[in-house]
Amino acid sequence: MALRSRKLSIPRLLHVGTACMCDVASLLADHDFDLGRVLVGSGPGPSRTLAEGVVSGLRGHGVDVLHRPGLCGRLDQAAALAAEIIQEGVTVAVAVGGGRVIDPVKLAAARTRTDFVSVPTTISNDGISSPVASLVGKDGARASHAARMPCGIVVDVETVGSAPAPTIRAGSADLVSNLTACMDWRLADRLGHDRFDAYSAMIAEAAARPVLDLQDVTSAASHEILAHGLLLSGLAMAAAGTSRPCSGAEHLVSHALDAQLGTRAALHGEQVALGCLVSAAAHGSPLLAELRRLFSRIGLPLAPADLGLSTQDLVDAVAAGPSLRPDRWTILSERLRGPGDAAELVAAAFSPSSRVVELAS
Ligand SMILES: [Zn+2]
Repeated sequence: MALRSRKLSIPRLLHVGTACMCDVASLLADHDFDLGRVLVGSGPGPSRTLAEGVVSGLRGHGVDVLHRPGLCGRLDQAAALAAEIIQEGVTVAVAVGGGRVIDPVKLAAARTRTDFVSVPTTISNDGISSPVASLVGKDGARASHAARMPCGIVVDVETVGSAPAPTIRAGSADLVSNLTACMDWRLADRLGHDRFDAYSAMIAEAAARPVLDLQDVTSAASHEILAHGLLLSGLAMAAAGTSRPCSGAEHLVSHALDAQLGTRAALHGEQVALGCLVSAAAHGSPLLAELRRLFSRIGLPLAPADLGLSTQDLVDAVAAGPSLRPDRWTILSERLRGPGDAAELVAAAFSPSSRVVELAS
């Protein structure tokens, strides 16, 4: 059925600046957040210290703050935070950290309909502004949960730029993967498996294209491009009402690697990078050569071994990817018809001769 209208909640506070971690309190006050009681979530590592700065800034404004450190991306932590938000009458939930901090707070706030503010300390993936939370359940498996976009986002470019370099590279790959995800979406629409939404795809692709021109991921300018792009990716997902514009075959490969490798899994974006090469090869797209050039410039993996994986590990992940999410039709659904097909796709993606698979019409 055609979309008759669309309502989209976008964050009422967006601040991308430098040295702004201590300004969170005044930014929230200026944007009419109810600061009756604020819960601040952080991780066990460096984000805890950064969160303490946010907490003392809030307390300096006379705000009653509950600080909950030690968040590490578990579903039971989201449930405990939701209970605390209800019991303690929390009016705003703030997450200061990476995805493992942001996602439990995001889900707890969504389920309790509490204002949520994302203060990322890394830009390793598009979860900083997306309406999706990726959390590890009691069975040890990671799964995505529908949540809501943040009501506020504060990005300190200096802070995210001083995070470990692999997190920044991973963020570049998660952002550029919008291009392969949208190729899947268009093809799924053309073959009658999904309904393409041009507006959401336009946002996702416009966010991702500047990444192809990045010469490095060490400059402040590059960090700003990545932060803006990842924020727009969240908007694209919210506009689509699904993660489709930012998640296709390359994400299925990464999810399969997560399931295969457990605690040996690499960063989400690093695995997505390998998946992007497989997807671009499977589509027979000239994007494959562009991605290879980009990955070699900025230090993303160009082969499974770059992430400590064997070729067979990746072949297994490519073969298993579609079964992890049967409702998401991608180029892998089209390409994987027989036992040797996954190996052939992996060979096409990583062979230096850049043999590109012709897509059957
Ligand atoms: Zn992703």
